[in-house]
Amino acid sequence: METRNGWADLTDKASFSGIWFHAVLCGFLLALFVSLPLRASAAPLEAKAYKMAGDATHMRIVMQFDREPDPRWFLLRGPHRLVIDLPETNFSVDARELKARGLVAGVRFGNVGEGRSRLILSAKGPFAVERVEVLENEKSEGYRLVADIAASSERVFDEALAEQTQTTGSTQATKKTDRLGQMAPRAAGKRFTIVIDPGHGGIDGGAEGVNGAVEKSVTLAFATELKKKLEQTGPYNVFLTREKDEFLRLDERVRIARQHEADLFISIHADTIRLKGIRGATVYTVSDKASDAEAAALAVRENLSDELAGIEIEEENHEVADILVDLIRRETHTFSMRFARSLVGELSTAVELINNPHRSAGFKVLRAPDVPSVLVELGYLSNAKDEAQLLDPDWRGKAAERISAAVELFATERTGTGG
Ligand SMILES: [Zn+2]
Repeated sequence: METRNGWADLTDKASFSGIWFHAVLCGFLLALFVSLPLRASAAPLEAKAYKMAGDATHMRIVMQFDREPDPRWFLLRGPHRLVIDLPETNFSVDARELKARGLVAGVRFGNVGEGRSRLILSAKGPFAVERVEVLENEKSEGYRLVADIAASSERVFDEALAEQTQTTGSTQATKKTDRLGQMAPRAAGKRFTIVIDPGHGGIDGGAEGVNGAVEKSVTLAFATELKKKLEQTGPYNVFLTREKDEFLRLDERVRIARQHEADLFISIHADTIRLKGIRGATVYTVSDKASDAEAAALAVRENLSDELAGIEIEEENHEVADILVDLIRRETHTFSMRFARSLVGELSTAVELINNPHRSAGFKVLRAPDVPSVLVELGYLSNAKDEAQLLDPDWRGKAAERISAAVELFATERTGTGG
């Protein structure tokens, strides 16, 4: 027993000293490991690649590094900028990747002295930072810096600016509702805001009437009338996505709605259909599956606007565009449906409607995740009577009045006060 105990002691002692040995060794290795990046940090980081993807509403920016960067980011105004500070970095990236696109109006980077470097992204308008994160590459050496930004309002940008403390390392935006513009509750005291979107414009004329009316002009004239009527109806803020004959991308129209924190987005159209006998107004909401073949075909035509204008369509960044917004989209959709139904009711008292006047399809311009949105086809330019009405100021006034009445009902419900 004693021997065994002795052996047992010895074994214990041996393993005890073994633990010590390991501890010391591990400590030494750890110290070596920790000191390696520190020593290596004397040499500048290598930024090897830069990529941007997205559109005017969401962008993802990815920069590849040979080692782990330690970014600090902050916001600047005039223009709206995201500034990411880095340890000294040698940038060797493809200049073609830096050209402005989507929400990003410009990219600059370089040394800012004292062994620091900086990446500056200028945006087209206010935005919210969804994340700035450093991730280790799974399939290759090195690390990547990922920044996601989303179009937002001036208010959201200003709040972030006011709250900002330099943020270190990997950060996630904390207030998810804020960055998506907040469906509910609405910001207290904020005026009910409507963004009216005159369809088409500039090089994209839209449909052409049997007697020569051009959709882009019809929509602008109507939108202008509707703005006037709304301003007479209630204490609303009313904006147009365009006030002149200019081309706007579909995602830019959505960005403008978000910039104004629109409570309602109304896109105005007047298209054509092969059957010239068909006439009347239609109210569309967004859906993944179209309500009918005609609605599906119309959405395809409308969504071609960017391509018709010769705009290069980049692959949508679905991960950025969709996952974040699904929850809020559902609530928004409920409001869009409610407004569409009430709009159909109001319009039916004064203007001709087609059969089943509330339809749905996958319109890109209705995809603001946090803004209830409808697309109104006022009538068909392929029908001579509809075309004549669309050019008639009296008819326009009457139709605009009914839309204003529907907006008033909706605004009262949303704000509890009607304004
Ligand atoms: Zn159209």
